[in-house]
Amino acid sequence: MAQQFLVPPGSQVSLADYDPGYSGDYAQKSETKEELERNVERLRELQRVLWAESKHALLIVLQALDAGGKDGTIRHVFRGVNPQGCQVTGFKVPTEEELDHDFLWRIHKATPRRGYIGIFNRSHYEDVLVVRVRNLAPESVWQQRYEQINQFEKLLAATGTTILKFFLYISKEEQGERFEARLQDPRKNWKFSIGDVEDRGYWGDYMRAYEDALSRCSTPWAPWHIVPANHKWYRNLVVSQIIVEALDKLDMHYPPPLPNASEIIIPD
Ligand code: AMP
Ligand code: MG
Repeated sequence: MAQQFLVPPGSQVSLADYDPGYSGDYAQKSETKEELERNVERLRELQRVLWAESKHALLIVLQALDAGGKDGTIRHVFRGVNPQGCQVTGFKVPTEEELDHDFLWRIHKATPRRGYIGIFNRSHYEDVLVVRVRNLAPESVWQQRYEQINQFEKLLAATGTTILKFFLYISKEEQGERFEARLQDPRKNWKFSIGDVEDRGYWGDYMRAYEDALSRCSTPWAPWHIVPANHKWYRNLVVSQIIVEALDKLDMHYPPPLPNASEIIIPD
């Protein structure tokens, strides 16, 4: 499945070619339930050996437009994972201190150590997305960032981090419906922000910014995946499947058994 949603390194992405409502061979949630469950369970097992072996780290980067489903993806896909070995970091508007450093300073500090899964809810990609669309830095600054990001991710990969990046792609229509739902349900009002509606006005600019980030920063060591995300259940299936496939490929092993385990006597 990973291959199907992978952005081939060096290719030029046009999001118009992708259907955010795509759901493969599945017509409804109930058809994906068993497979998702299997992936959740598999991820639980793989995390145990990731932790025990403590050789690799896994970094998941989640990007999406507002209401794109980053939080829901984390909630569903990682529900089987041991919280002790998993760290979720949400990147908000940078603080003054963060802005006084290079843009990767706060990111680097949050990368997972060996044995851990790190999840980025937004990421360094905001520095070529919202920053570009909202003119928060001059073009001469953000233009250099694509290459800086590639080099940074290369360093992480070279030191044992498996990086998987997901763009959760929803349609503008679907976003509109999700905003409406946030307004109508008092228990969802807190999710609504007027800034999100403002950003919606820049939809076209965001699409272009995403196309550039996806095209210029999908690399063999840190590939991007474009996930059709109008259907939450299909999105969860795709993300979980790609993660499981990648971890499987690492061919991880528990540390060798103690040669004399049977001879060790535990005193009363
Ligand atoms: P949310 O994820 O909805 O809680 O909102 C976080 C907000 O922080 C979003 O509006 C992002 O666009 C914004 N944000 C994240 N990273 C940056 C950044 N590097 N520069 C400016 N805004 C950012
Ligand atoms: Mg927001």
